[in-house]
Amino acid sequence: MASKQKTKVAIVGTGFVGATAAYALCIDGIASEIALIDMDKKRAEGEALDLIHGTLFTSNTKITYGNTYRLCKGADIIVITAGAHQKEGETRLDLVKKNASILQQIIAGITANNHQGIIIIVSNPLDVLTSLALQWSGFPKERVFGTGTMLDTARFRHYLSEYYEVNPSSVHAYILGEHGDSEFPAWSCAHVGGVPLKSFERYNPKELSKIAEKTRNAAYEIIAKKGATYYAIGLVITKLVRTILTDQRHVLPVSCLLENYYAINNICLSIPAVIGRQGILKKIKIPLNKKEQQQLKRSANIVKAYTQIVEKHGN
Ligand code: NAD
Repeated sequence: MASKQKTKVAIVGTGFVGATAAYALCIDGIASEIALIDMDKKRAEGEALDLIHGTLFTSNTKITYGNTYRLCKGADIIVITAGAHQKEGETRLDLVKKNASILQQIIAGITANNHQGIIIIVSNPLDVLTSLALQWSGFPKERVFGTGTMLDTARFRHYLSEYYEVNPSSVHAYILGEHGDSEFPAWSCAHVGGVPLKSFERYNPKELSKIAEKTRNAAYEIIAKKGATYYAIGLVITKLVRTILTDQRHVLPVSCLLENYYAINNICLSIPAVIGRQGILKKIKIPLNKKEQQQLKRSANIVKAYTQIVEKHGN
């Protein structure tokens, strides 16, 4: 059997999201080892066994598991999916205290065992936790970021593609800002096949704002119907991991540290960034109109306020 280059991905939290990401990664085959870490050791073991039994049909990825952060040793990427998820009626920001406290323990465990990896935050409230993980880990800013609005953008492109009856890969449009209720569509840069939406057929601001609304409410809709969201985010994580490990340099809307970005500083929010083997290679200054700049500022104020609650009062 051809031996592939050793690549290790650690996933902290083997609930719905972590287990689904591990499953998608096994099918993708990009990682030679996946380490599953959960404080609930039995759960990590159960998920690991279930995945191991499928390796005949996938890529023979080595699966390790346990409740110790020693499993992060040598990981190229550490994906954090541990923590409470939204219950029906809860916003992502409602999770802040519980999940910040969990994150603090996790970051301590990671930094005791790994200094060279890339940390990807998936748990919510995503931008607050990414900002805190960056501070608490002491890792360089290129190596700590969140999946951000990658999922929201995928949903948005799907709904736009239905409206325009084209493949989602031919719709170029971003949801930016907070991965949460203040996220916004960057309409001024959206296009289909290179044609700005305003000049494209069926331009109808009312219909487009319904699409943005549907995108913003997608997680609430799924949670009301089946309790949690995990398939699409599992694929988002896989896309990000593959982009990093193979240095693909895709431009992806991830939550990363903003520094003088439309005068916003020291907070993590989603903007388009070039992602490669070293993490964030470049942050792209996307041209936003005045309204969109205000929407980005609004996201920044919300995320800053929640981050300061944790910084001031502990968790
Ligand atoms: P879940 O409850 O199914 O799983 C969470 C897991 O975390 C559990 O197995 C639990 O044992 C583990 N855990 C808790 N504390 C831990 C600790 N200190 N160390 C290690 N493991 C610990 O939740 P889920 O549905 O998998 O969601 C996980 C997180 O992902 C939530 O915060 C959710 O809101 C978020 N999420 C984010 C996105 C996104 O787009 N970023 C999408 C879906 C869900």
